Amino acid sequence: MTRRRWIAENWDEASATLVGAQAEHLARVLRAQPGMTADVVAGGRVFRAEVASVSLAGEASPGETSAGETSEVRFTLLAELEADPALPITLALAVYKFDRMEWAIEKATELGAAAIAPMIARRTEKHLAQAAPKRAERWRRIAMEAAKQARRTDVPVVHDPVPLAEHVHAGSEATRIVLAEQERTTTLHHALEEVLASAGDRMPALELAIGPEGGWAPSEEALFDANGWRAVSLGPRILRAETAAIAALAVVASYLE
Ligand code: SAM
Repeated sequence: MTRRRWIAENWDEASATLVGAQAEHLARVLRAQPGMTADVVAGGRVFRAEVASVSLAGEASPGETSAGETSEVRFTLLAELEADPALPITLALAVYKFDRMEWAIEKATELGAAAIAPMIARRTEKHLAQAAPKRAERWRRIAMEAAKQARRTDVPVVHDPVPLAEHVHAGSEATRIVLAEQERTTTLHHALEEVLASAGDRMPALELAIGPEGGWAPSEEALFDANGWRAVSLGPRILRAETAAIAALAVVASYLE
């Protein structure tokens, strides 16, 4: 079985279990059998693990009299492996065109973001603002799949969408940076140099806010400013929101990795 990394839904100190679609894929497509080994993520920690049992939905497994409701693959955890923690970055993403936003969530996961915080901004289109709460579960699935593909040991938290002001007013330990297309003096590079200089050998937690297609409203820029967010530029060109998100994350990752 390929050295993929499986993210367990349930675990304890000695075992971990995959259920549902992941178990189905492992059992039916990859024909997992007891004794096969794989890397399994359980509670943010990575283990070398061995398949202990495989049971398919609708089929009684050996020794059982009744079939289970859902497929299940249980692993015995053998040895803990080196975990690669996420980058302490939260991407505060204004809700905008879902397909582009979902692409940004997938790329932010690959780039190591620890959390995604969708925000309803003034210029978020109304129908997207209304649909966003029901979309959060899909965003979480996208983050899970991207984390598996990137062989991450954790899955980014995708928060429920909230109004921008609620997010800005919520307390945070992080240094909060807003990507502002109108900003002309401070670059992201400059702001990061300052943050790292004051952080010493501590890894600073950061938050990066990206606006919607229509950009930030003046009242939002004032709100960010009044709440201590640093406005920074990614250069003179106007980037699509997803481009700005990925570019900013890549720049920050290059400082923190
Ligand atoms: N409607 C805006 C305009 O035409 O000026 C563009 C908004 S842009 C599509 C979406 C978001 O990406 C912005 O709100 C900002 O957060 C970010 N962004 C785009 N270009 C940027 C740049 N050069 N510097 C900093 N942030 C940028």
